[in-house]
Amino acid sequence: MAFEALTQKLNDIFKKLKGKGKLTEADVKQAMREVKLALLEADVNFKVVKDLIQKISERAVGQEVMESLTPGQQVIKIVNDELVQLMGSKEAKLNFSSGGITVIMLVGLQGSGKTTTAGKLGRLLSKSGKKPLLTAADIYRPAAIKQLQVVGEKLDLPVFTMGQQDPVNIARASVEYAHKHNNDVIIIDTAGRLHIDEELMDELSRIKQAVNPSEILLVVDSMTGQDAVNVAEEFNKRLALTGLILTKLDGDTRGGAALSVKAVTGCPIKFVGMGEKLENLEPFYPERMASRILG
Ligand code: GDP
Repeated sequence: MAFEALTQKLNDIFKKLKGKGKLTEADVKQAMREVKLALLEADVNFKVVKDLIQKISERAVGQEVMESLTPGQQVIKIVNDELVQLMGSKEAKLNFSSGGITVIMLVGLQGSGKTTTAGKLGRLLSKSGKKPLLTAADIYRPAAIKQLQVVGEKLDLPVFTMGQQDPVNIARASVEYAHKHNNDVIIIDTAGRLHIDEELMDELSRIKQAVNPSEILLVVDSMTGQDAVNVAEEFNKRLALTGLILTKLDGDTRGGAALSVKAVTGCPIKFVGMGEKLENLEPFYPERMASRILG
């Protein structure tokens, strides 16, 4: 499971703190050094760790904490609060178009889970009363179009395809199709590559210009740790992302991406993928994630 090692380490650190009763400044400082190491070992971005530890220390070394009846608990609460802040504080909801059709563009590298996530998101939206259309705009891998069709069939959601034509035209045509068929949300599954390249970014920018999406969500594989954060930075620079979807959090990721990506990119995590099944997508709640990390 995700965060397992981090949770274990934090628990050990906190157990020592709670066991001490009264705390000295040196105790807290020692604990902070250990928390810092645990976070670095969980592959959290170095600068993020530094800022976080500074914030926690500023609050934890004060008299209020030291003189409280349960100083250990107070320190844990501060760590919890700061982790919640770090991950975005509240749930970041999807933006919907106020008038017409809401267009959601899913972007990301190949294998990040984009096509699966398109289906999962369609399922969630459909459950909330929307009428989503899935658009197959990943034209370079013929299997990707088929894959989206299979997902659509499983979920009983319509899938718009035009084969391997210009993805900008496909995206535009899917908006017309949605108008005619009363779909109020379009989820566009765009092409991915193994690495970020200019051609891909250019194509995504052109799709963005053509259909003016309410959401451009980057699907990133949390198992790739700081690479996921770097990918997010690059995509954000080029496309001005509105949010992130972290996939494969059910795997044994150390957690670095989940803990760093919001702070580094400024983009909120909106959903997390928690398994291969189409029902395994959840809105991202920073508080729940922090509680999970702290075990
Ligand atoms: P794409 O190339 O970005 O469209 O990626 P796919 O949707 O084809 O997904 C790549 C692989 O990741 C597939 O085997 C998916 O089942 C798997 N996958 C996607 N999301 C998750 C997730 O949240 N958890 C797990 N365990 N696997 C996932």
